[in-house]
Amino acid sequence: MKTDIKALTIEELNTAVKELSLPSFRAKQIYKWLHETGCTSFDEMTNLSKDLRNKLSDIFYISCCEIEDKYVSQLDDTVKYLFRLTDGEYIESVIMKYKYGYTICVSSQVGCKMGCTFCASTLAGFKRNLTAGEIESQIHAAQKDLGVRISHIVMMGIGEPLDNYSNVLAFLSNVNNENGLNIGMRNITISTCGIVDRIYDLMERDLQLTLTISLHAPNDEIRSKTMPVNNKYPIDTLLKACREYGEKTGRRVSFEYTLIKNVNDSESNALELASKLKGSLCHINLIPVNDVEERGNVRSSREDIIKFQNILKRNGINATIRRTLGADINASCGQLRHLKKKG
Ligand code: SAH
Repeated sequence: MKTDIKALTIEELNTAVKELSLPSFRAKQIYKWLHETGCTSFDEMTNLSKDLRNKLSDIFYISCCEIEDKYVSQLDDTVKYLFRLTDGEYIESVIMKYKYGYTICVSSQVGCKMGCTFCASTLAGFKRNLTAGEIESQIHAAQKDLGVRISHIVMMGIGEPLDNYSNVLAFLSNVNNENGLNIGMRNITISTCGIVDRIYDLMERDLQLTLTISLHAPNDEIRSKTMPVNNKYPIDTLLKACREYGEKTGRRVSFEYTLIKNVNDSESNALELASKLKGSLCHINLIPVNDVEERGNVRSSREDIIKFQNILKRNGINATIRRTLGADINASCGQLRHLKKKG
């Protein structure tokens, strides 16, 4: 079994270079090829000798994302890619254009084990974690194809990033490196369904990224019915971790709340949510539930959504309604899915 060289952090690559008895400057050269240029083969590394390239390819492989399909939204220029990985598995990624630049929504796993009842990503089950190289390759492949520089990352694609914690940390270290994509931590958002132990681990790292929590319910009764993770980490435990996260890192945690008709969108749900979040400096993003055919959830009416938002605001909670992008290409929140490997 070869190792994905693109999954190594600069520290790990330095060690690997030392173990191969190579001069230490080689590590930086190789790192730049992988992370700045986005090489997909050792043959592209033209300042390395043929011998060295062969030696590297005996031990390592370079993960990459091949474009299997590409969908462009006619409504808002959002682009969705279906990428094929080296082992034939598939993942999806979405690129959105904002006034401030391009944002990519990356996947962190092939499939998902979290089982949220409104989400498409979990329908075909969980297959495996992505390597740090595979998470990053989504950015390189999209940048190359679109001919643009991506400046912001949201980890809101398929999978639960905190369930693939160490690979996600390696990915963050690589995209943040000045000899790689050099994307600032403040331009990176991690979304989690609420794996509290990992939130505490992340807190210790004191990174300047944005942490956002998929909350989607004001109490344990509704949350446990729709999000199985709540059985392990109930809502009060989760919110306590979020408060501590904010205090420790100085970064305000934000929340996502998907509005589903007759499930979590009543006035009393809004009041209960406001009282749960009272006193914490937070922002809540309301997402009208997106259609996932197999799930059959119904979107709350525009009127109910605005009513919900106003109750939160009246109670001192900062709330916005998320604009839906890529609706015509199934590229919106919760619509990305793990397709079965062909053949
Ligand atoms: N596993 C992580 C990352 C996924 S992010 C997490 O749970 O946060 C995708 C976001 O879209 C999450 O907030 C998710 O709960 C939300 N989502 C899932 N299905 C949705 C749907 N049908 N409509 C709107 N949002 C949805």
